[in-house]
Amino acid sequence: GDVYKRQRGGGAARGAGAREAEAAGGGGGGGGGSSGSLWNAASSLWATAKPRAPDDETVHIFSLASGQLYERFLRIMMLSVVEKSSRKVKFWLIRNFASAGFKAAVPHLAAAKGFEVEFVRYQWPPWLRAQSEKQRIIWGYKILFLDVLFPLSLKKVIYIDADQVVRSDIAELWDLDLKGRAVGMTPFCSHDANPHTTGFRFWAQGYWVDHLRSRPYHISALFVVDLQAFRARAAGDRYRVFYDSLSADPNSLSNLDQDLPNYAQHSVPIASLPEHWLWCETWCGNASKAEARTIDLCNNPLTKEPKIEMAKRIIGQRWIDLDNEARAIEAAFAANASAASARGGGGARAERDEL
Ligand code: UDP
Ligand code: CA
Repeated sequence: GDVYKRQRGGGAARGAGAREAEAAGGGGGGGGGSSGSLWNAASSLWATAKPRAPDDETVHIFSLASGQLYERFLRIMMLSVVEKSSRKVKFWLIRNFASAGFKAAVPHLAAAKGFEVEFVRYQWPPWLRAQSEKQRIIWGYKILFLDVLFPLSLKKVIYIDADQVVRSDIAELWDLDLKGRAVGMTPFCSHDANPHTTGFRFWAQGYWVDHLRSRPYHISALFVVDLQAFRARAAGDRYRVFYDSLSADPNSLSNLDQDLPNYAQHSVPIASLPEHWLWCETWCGNASKAEARTIDLCNNPLTKEPKIEMAKRIIGQRWIDLDNEARAIEAAFAANASAASARGGGGARAERDEL
């Protein structure tokens, strides 16, 4: 649906709830948990005393997945990033929706491929209008709590959809200048647009054209957040205030995670990233595919093709290889763990020792 009713007013700025973090493997980084502030104080003193070369800077990536299919995609996304990254990578994942199997398996993947993972848990605050559909709850977590999900020591984060595959060095995106803006997003392909979906470009007509006033409508499958600027300008509160007022109408925010930041651009300006950072077949033409830095398996309203089929058709062999690699790593750890428990006692402990 593309119905988007104008609603204004209401909603006071509010603080946010508590964050609970939990380190989950990947080379003993992290600190994490309740001793965070002391740790952060100590590490920032250290950082002042001995500045690191920018090349050593870890790239921090946020993502989330709910359900078996998206957990499979998320593994592939993480491997795709790490394979092409020139720098260390740390993933921040939402714990709330993660299955037990995924939580147990991901640290093994991290250890095998040399990246870090930390699960963060965040409870939707009771004072913010709830969502009942799973997909809309996920979209909410993706955009509404960026200021409070992560420790204050985290200065920047890149959000990547689980169903995306990265094909170039993510450090280049990390280093892009957001020109003082707190958020960077890619506009929907316009230099090379897919001619078959022109009629679905709801933002190019009616209400959105008036509201955007020549600003682009951006896709939310990949975005960069300068967390320091975001927090300093209370952008999280701004998003929540717009959300509270717009979501009073159930027909509003039909693409919650995307409509909200695009709607709020006059209050939280978005730096428009080069279009080659995000390619998806639904909206982009084939000419620009070769130079795409990332490919998202975004839903196609014309074909409604299942995402696994899209992955094999659009991304092809690399997707299949990454999928197989993730399975092989996890199977090897599972086999080790069951061999250890067959030897008797301490199965879980033996499994940790393998790390
Ligand atoms: N997502 C999820 N489970 C779902 C739907 C969505 O985990 O059932 C997450 C996942 O990270 C996904 C993101 O939300 O990449 C955005 O949804 P999706 O990629 O399906 O949107 P599209 O790209 O098709 O617009
Ligand atoms: Ca997507």
